[in-house]
Amino acid sequence: MLDNLGTSLKDAVKKLAGKTVIDRAAVDELVRDLQRALLSADVNVKLVMHLSQAIKQRALEEEPPKGMGVREHVLRIVYQELVRLMGTPGEVALEPQTILMAGLQGSGKTTTTAKLARYFQRKGLRVGVICADTFRPGAYEQLKTLCDRISVPCFGDPKEPDALKIVREGLPKYRKLYEVIIIDTQGRHALEDNLIEEIVNINEISHADHRWLVIDAALGQQASEQARRFHEAIGIDGVLVTKMDGTAKGGGSLSAVAETQSGIVFIGSGETIEDLERFDPDGFISRLLG
Ligand code: GDP
Repeated sequence: MLDNLGTSLKDAVKKLAGKTVIDRAAVDELVRDLQRALLSADVNVKLVMHLSQAIKQRALEEEPPKGMGVREHVLRIVYQELVRLMGTPGEVALEPQTILMAGLQGSGKTTTTAKLARYFQRKGLRVGVICADTFRPGAYEQLKTLCDRISVPCFGDPKEPDALKIVREGLPKYRKLYEVIIIDTQGRHALEDNLIEEIVNINEISHADHRWLVIDAALGQQASEQARRFHEAIGIDGVLVTKMDGTAKGGGSLSAVAETQSGIVFIGSGETIEDLERFDPDGFISRLLG
């Protein structure tokens, strides 16, 4: 079954390129091949259907621009619709800002917080990190250890159970000293009400400039639900996809992008603090479908 589903975009495109006539049947076949590839990469069913319809409609109704053949025109539509599906890469400004990190436990939130600190530090900005994860034992030590390695200060108190208190105390102090402040928050294994309530409160008192959601590349259809809940709660404006160095194709993260109407800002590509990359849609498309 999986072998059948494995037909890639490249194969689909090659198939189309080999056809003598690009008619309705050829477009239907192309769309079917695309659907298989996308669904097997964990892209949300609704998104796939939407994309299929858009490609079909445009391929059959739009006239190719002057000088462009039908084949080339159809391929251009496929590419444009795939890029649209992915959203434009999220903006990352190199200026003073506060970033609030959201996501479930195990998504890679703490590691990614430290990676981001490293990214902004390398760009010449003064960075401070606040550990507002008072839920998971050892969270502060983990973040502090990572931050120590790159000489980034980490505000927190492993004995303080109240995350809001930590933010209230740490944020004004750090805002005087640092340009970019990244707040790591608690995660849980599931979307519990307490988790959402706390991040809503932290968002309110911190007036963060950005609220970024950390999503594990291995997440399939659950990515939609997570993204929707966090987005409703605090308004997510960027998605970070972790563990792209693994075998997962990251299709679930596209659902997160669609739910939050934001874009992917960074990709996590390994366990070390340097393994963070800005999002490149072309690379992502080829991985997703290759
Ligand atoms: P948190 O519970 O969301 O804070 O998750 P952690 O930051 O503790 O990460 C959970 C696990 O995922 C750790 O073992 C990390 O080393 C690992 N991890 C995080 N990001 C990546 C990544 O991009 N690639 C790989 N291979 N592992 C990652």
